[in-house]
Amino acid sequence: AKELGRNSHAVFSPHIAELQNWRSDLLTALRSGLTENRFRLVYQVQQNANSLAITGVEALLRWSPPRPDLAARPDQFVPLLEQSGLIIEVGGWVLHEACRQAAAWRDQLGERISVAVNISSVQLHAPCFVDRIRSALGESNINPDLLELELTESSLVIEPAKAAATLAEVKALGVQLALDDFGTGYSSLSYLTRFSFDRLKIDQGFVRDIFDDPKDLEIVKAIIAMGHALGLEVVAEGVETVDERDLLEGLGCDSFQGYLVGRPGKPEEISSMLGVGLL
Ligand code: C2E
Ligand code: CA
Ligand code: CA
Ligand code: CA
Repeated sequence: AKELGRNSHAVFSPHIAELQNWRSDLLTALRSGLTENRFRLVYQVQQNANSLAITGVEALLRWSPPRPDLAARPDQFVPLLEQSGLIIEVGGWVLHEACRQAAAWRDQLGERISVAVNISSVQLHAPCFVDRIRSALGESNINPDLLELELTESSLVIEPAKAAATLAEVKALGVQLALDDFGTGYSSLSYLTRFSFDRLKIDQGFVRDIFDDPKDLEIVKAIIAMGHALGLEVVAEGVETVDERDLLEGLGCDSFQGYLVGRPGKPEEISSMLGVGLL
């Protein structure tokens, strides 16, 4: 075992060291990201199953690296922002920027387009969180129900009582709440009644395998039935094909998000999708 340990050490450590160096360089660069304007938001539309209208978008964070080798996807840089606590500042910027954009669309369009923002648990538990929401709403002057916060179960399990209190405060402002990646956690049912969510987002993993794995189909059916029984709207994520959309629509899904309806795009691209490209 000792020998094996030494060997695996010899084999793997250069890669691990390289990865650690990259992460540490990336984190250093991320630290000046806000002052250097390196963050931006792209938006992915959500389509209502009945009206086929675009009723909302989800804001997704992107990063423009100072050097090509520091290019990173959100699933690579968001964890670093979280571990370092930087997500509190960056997430605050996301909230302000998303609300500003929601106000711009409100002014351009007659209709209502809500904007959903992903909230990490570090952010949710930061003392300034509710103030950040208030100030983002105040500055943009949008109707609070145009803002939706997306939370995952994993961010609720750490300190459920505290999370519930904070979310009740946010809810009282009129902000909408969505439970993201639903079905991947382990204590889903109790979280549905304990927190006052408006929407459930079925994790894209279930949608991906809905035709290939009969169990996933049953899970999706159960999620939709349960969501509706509790008065929640059910959103399917990661919808890529017409067949997937048709099946999900037949099962009673209320709205769709995914490459089929639209890939995440710049605000201008979303505006032209919404028919206000000339403004
Ligand atoms: P998420 O919240 O589950 O976001 C959905 C992800 O699925 C996005 O990846 C989106 O581009 C991708 N996606 C959408 N439609 C499809 C599809 O049809 N097929 C496939 N295969 N993928 C699809 P993205 O933008 O890379 O973000 C990854 C994750 O990073 C997000 O997952 C979220 O957890 C996190 N994230 C992104 N922006 C933020 C942010 O502003 N704050 C925080 N805290 N987390 C963020
Ligand atoms: Ca999300
Ligand atoms: Ca999700
Ligand atoms: Ca498939």
